[in-house]
Amino acid sequence: MNTEQTEELTGVCFDTDLIVRYGGRGPRYTSYPTALQFDESLTPDNYREKAAESNTSDVPLSLYVHIPFCHSLCYYCGCNKIVTRNEARVERYMEMLYREIEMQSKLFDHSRKIEQLHFGGGTPTYLDNEQLSELLDTLRAAFNFDDSEDREFSIEVDPRTVDADGIRHLAKLGFNRLSLGIQDFEPAVQQAVNRAQTPEEVQNLVDSAIGAGFGSISFDLIYGLPQQTVESFNRTLDIVIGMKPDRLAVYNYAHLPRRFKGQRMINANDIPAPEVKLELLRHTIEKLCAAGYIYIGMDHFALPGDELVQARLDGTLQRNFQGYSTHRQCDLVSLGVSGISGIGNMFAQNAITTMEYEAIIESGELPIKKGILVDDDDLKRAAVIQALMCYDSLSFDDFGAEHGIDFRRYFADEIKRLEPLVEDELIDLDDAGVAITQKGRLLLRSIAMVFDRYIDQAENDNRFSKAI
Ligand code: SF4
Repeated sequence: MNTEQTEELTGVCFDTDLIVRYGGRGPRYTSYPTALQFDESLTPDNYREKAAESNTSDVPLSLYVHIPFCHSLCYYCGCNKIVTRNEARVERYMEMLYREIEMQSKLFDHSRKIEQLHFGGGTPTYLDNEQLSELLDTLRAAFNFDDSEDREFSIEVDPRTVDADGIRHLAKLGFNRLSLGIQDFEPAVQQAVNRAQTPEEVQNLVDSAIGAGFGSISFDLIYGLPQQTVESFNRTLDIVIGMKPDRLAVYNYAHLPRRFKGQRMINANDIPAPEVKLELLRHTIEKLCAAGYIYIGMDHFALPGDELVQARLDGTLQRNFQGYSTHRQCDLVSLGVSGISGIGNMFAQNAITTMEYEAIIESGELPIKKGILVDDDDLKRAAVIQALMCYDSLSFDDFGAEHGIDFRRYFADEIKRLEPLVEDELIDLDDAGVAITQKGRLLLRSIAMVFDRYIDQAENDNRFSKAI
């Protein structure tokens, strides 16, 4: 990559005024339509039909496995998780998960390779080495795993639940990407969110992961947590940068105690004021870019040698439920409670509670509870949003040729609605297309929302997290 390309990629411009004005609530667009549009008219029969249809394509498969259990509650958490130490409860869930694997695997041609695998939660490493081995053995027996270098097999790791041996074990099972939940290294912040882990413990895991040959290590951080200050977060960033993770995701803490009960444990007075949060974000972006990280988009950063950066340059970057990915679009089969599958033009979500998930499987049915069949209009909108989220630009002619439409006519209303964003310098717009400016790159979802036909800002204000 040459210098010009690097500058082009790191180019974000922090405009406080614009961020305050546009940084309201909005979807993260890990899918479009978003899960809010799912309803219960989608049935297991629809799912089976779409799975059968998908077998006529040569699209590979991606597997997501949800392990909802955690040993203790992190107060900021907004995930679908169960805090328990009850082994019998875990065993029952695993038994039902195995039944789901059996049911799902029968729906897909065995010739279809699993190119991507992601274990998320909750805490996948809640399971011990033996349980993880059994789960991987079961998945490998049921599906056709691609074990080539190209595979993208990732797992979310809570550093408090694994040691160096555990990391080596994950490598033996075939995982080649790790995502470590760091959030913040400052003791006062860790105490305020009930999640204590030392830099030494994390460094030890990073060393083991490098030694075990993990191709990519990613850290998650959160800004806006209680007790955080710019100075304290700066110390965390210094430690993190010293550990050189290949990728970083820096999320905004959304305090929604009415929706997420655990957040009621957080003293609202300890949360940084809005202007401090803005400073935290500005400082984080400047510091990471100065340390050589490249802003990929939507909270994600990567070192120049990372595949995400190359994928952005060569046009293969994808936005998906895990954020960004380098892999071409796969059909996504999600296993476990609350998992969302995406097959052809269908999204389907499993039951949200373990009680319902287990009861449906026990009855011999797929645990699909809701979803949506995406129509042609939404497929086009999804492609526009994908282009904006991944590449910051879109050519009307190229898009029109690929999707068989006259873009200017088809999206005439949306082009009109982009005009105020031009005045505010979030985008450049001309007859050839739209290009997101350096100021607009931090407000990608506000720009993408123009193409979302379900957005009603007033109505949705409280259902999405804040953009910033
Ligand atoms: S942040 Fe992760 S480990 Fe903590 S409660 Fe949520 S899912 Fe569990």
